[in-house]
Order: sequence, then C-alpha cells, then structure tokens
Amino acid sequence: MNIKEADPGKLTIIPRDQHNVSRKSISEAALKVLYRLTSSGYRACLVGGGVRDLLLNRQPKDFDIATNATPEQLRALFKNSRIIGRRFRLVHIRFGREIIEVATFRSHVADSPRNELSSQGRILRDNTFGDIADDALRRDFTANALYYDIENYSILDYTQGLADIESRSLRLIGDPNTRYQEDPVRMLRAIRFAAKLDFKIEQESARAIFECGHLLHDIPPARLFDETLKLFHSGNASGVFALLRHYQLLQYLFPALDEILGKEPAEAMLDFIDQALVNTDIRINNDQHVSPAFIFAILLWPAVSQQATALESDQLKIIPALFQAGSDVMSRQVKHIAIPRRFSQMARDIWTAQPKFERTKGKQPNRLAAHPWFRAAYDFMCIQSMVGLVPVKLCQWWTNFQQSHQRSEKQHTQHEPRRKRRVRKRQAN
Ligand code: ATP
Ligand code: MG
Repeated sequence: MNIKEADPGKLTIIPRDQHNVSRKSISEAALKVLYRLTSSGYRACLVGGGVRDLLLNRQPKDFDIATNATPEQLRALFKNSRIIGRRFRLVHIRFGREIIEVATFRSHVADSPRNELSSQGRILRDNTFGDIADDALRRDFTANALYYDIENYSILDYTQGLADIESRSLRLIGDPNTRYQEDPVRMLRAIRFAAKLDFKIEQESARAIFECGHLLHDIPPARLFDETLKLFHSGNASGVFALLRHYQLLQYLFPALDEILGKEPAEAMLDFIDQALVNTDIRINNDQHVSPAFIFAILLWPAVSQQATALESDQLKIIPALFQAGSDVMSRQVKHIAIPRRFSQMARDIWTAQPKFERTKGKQPNRLAAHPWFRAAYDFMCIQSMVGLVPVKLCQWWTNFQQSHQRSEKQHTQHEPRRKRRVRKRQAN
C-alpha cells in the first residue's frame, strides 16, 4: 500500500508565536549544526524526539537533525563527524560528550524501488533520499514526525502529529500492519514511548501489535539487545514491563520468563521483578548507573532460580546448581538477545553470589565484598528481601557491614599518603 494514499501528508505550518519550542531549550551544539547547514545552503530542521519532548515541556534526551545534505556533504562540512550505519546511514557530529545525529531526508521505502525489502516486507536498507515531505511520512509515529524549521522557527506538521501530541496519542503513520512488517522494532518503540511519555497507543496501532508480535523473531539478536536496553533503561522500566506483558511481546524477548509468569503461582517472582524495576527506575531517574548485567540478572532470575531448585533436589549443592542453571538459561537467552559476554558473565556472578550472602562469619564477608560485582549482587539480594524471598535481616546485616567497612576505611585513609589513598578508593568501588 502506498502510504501517500492513506495519508496525503498535508502540511500544516505552526508559526513561532503559536508553539512553545524555544531556541533556549535547544543545545548549543544542535543549533550550531542547524545554522552551519543553512548558511551553507542546505535545508535543516530539528526533528524526532527533540521536537516532541520540547512540545511536551520535557528535557530531550538528545537532538536529531534532518537535512537535504547527503552523508558525504555532511562529512565535508563537519570535521568532527563520521558516517555510521549501513541499513540506515547517518552522520554523527561530536561536540565534546554530546553527539548530534544528522540524517538525510529519505523517501518512504515503499515508494522507492532501490530500497531493499525482505520477502516478509521488512526493510533491509533505507538509504534512498527524498524531500522533507517524503521524510516525514517514512518516520514511525506522528508525534516523532514534527520538524522545527531553523529558518523561521516554525513547526512543520505533515502528519497531524501536533493534534496527537495534544491528545497524548501514539499513532503510526500509515497502515500499522505494513509499518510493523517493514520494521517490527517499531512495536517495541511504541511501548517505550507509551511508557515514557504516558501516551496511549492509538487503537489501530495497538491492535496490530497483537497480530505482528511474532515478526520480532526475525530481528537480529544484536538489535534486540540495543532495543531491550533502551526499554529497561528508559526510567520507566516497570511501565514498559507491564506493556510488554499486555501486548504479549515478552515471549519474543524473554521466552523463559514469559513461560514462568504464565503459570501459577507466579506472584512472588512477579513481585520481585516489579520491585527490582521500580528500583531501577529510581536509580535511572537519579542519574545513577544501572548495569545491563543487573537488568538481565533480574529478568532471567525466575527461570534460573526455578531450574536451580530442581537441580538442587537432584543432589547438587546450591552454588553448582545455580552455576549450571545460570549457564543453561543464559545460553538459551542469547539466541534471542545478543547479550555481550561481559554482561552475561556478571549476571551469572550475581546469581551464584546469592547463597554466599548467608556466610557472615570470619573472612568470608570481606572476600565477597572485594568482587567487582559485589554491589550489584548486594542490591539484588536486598530486592529479594523486600519481597520476602530472603530474610530482611540479611540485607540489614550487609548494609551495616558496608557502612562500618566504609567508616574504618575512612579512618585508615586519613593517615595514608595520597597515592595509596587513591588506589584504595578504586578498590572500594
Ligand atoms: P528518544 O531519542 O527520546 O529515545 P526519538 O524519537 O528521538 O526518541 P530516535 O531513536 O532518536 O528516537 O530516532 C529519531 C527519530 O527517527 C524518531 O523520532 C523517528 O522520527 C525516526 N525513527 C527512529 N527509528 C525509526 C524506525 N524504526 N522507523 C521509523 N522512524 C524511525
Ligand atoms: Mg532521539
């Protein structure tokens, strides 16, 4: 189906005095790129999440720019830039720690014979350039297809996106089934944005998720790793998790977990995951680091602990049982989501550490606390204690242990030369 027939892409221009997007809220780096492009004779607009979030009075995570300059022209114009991606070629322009992502206007894949589609209609490559109106229609949601025009500070709306933002509705542009077939990851993006922005997924866009979920099978595990992290690092992981379950998508990301939660009684494990995700959200929203290993350790724990319990009753001791169950569950999981080894290894360390927290005598606690994964394993144990899977006293014991440890370390370091002190600090982290 031709998307232009379904949606004529009629342009509405919202002049500067009728919207709230101000240059003051746009990063200096993004403004620099926009101005350099226009002064070099190109067309350039802010687009995507940056415009959407500013319209919603939210702080954008990053700024994306769309232009008619090609990746090569961008490379020539910005020394600090590099071309990335094959399926979708983009230019990253670096300003210190900030990266501005610049994409050349593209036409919608169905309109351009040179673009490659798989036999199931999935976009394999999307590098056919077009004009700004084409570019708007090939984007995913109407809320993500608004352009802030640096020439006159107006907003260009080709898809009635502003009305959807006002009614907090997440609507795919064009026919939902076709758009999910082109790129099934759009279903995960719908869930991420719905949870993050507190938007409702529009009825047809929502209905099609139930029909198209199975298409996630075709997505390369490396891309699913990236998307899964975005989902669970969004600061709204608990909302994301509820939506994944509601839309029956958990089975394509975490099949072992989905199976366990589908059977009775799953309440204790569900409580554990909810509690852990609430904690994750608090940390992320406080700008604290959450390791991907921790997230995978949480989501795979129900399967690991269930399997370890079965192995334990087969005469294996608990630590070897956890070790074996962890390896089995992880090797099945990485077929769906390509979890890099350093994270899968740390998740396994977190699991096998759990029984070790019961050893509170002698040198054992110091030994456990010296591991680089200790802090994550301790957080994991305390979350278990919050939902009654581990005695609350155990979490308290380890909290006290760390506090007294830190105190005595402080007293120590005050009398030591500077260099040594630094080394100690690093070890404590
Ligand atoms: P945020 O950066 O806050 O996560 P975003 O909307 O900016 O959200 P990005 O992944 O940065 O999301 O993508 C920028 C824009 O590119 C999107 O707003 C959308 O217009 C377009 N886009 C990204 N991914 C897709 C996709 N899979 N299909 C169609 N358009 C997409
Ligand atoms: Mg963005």
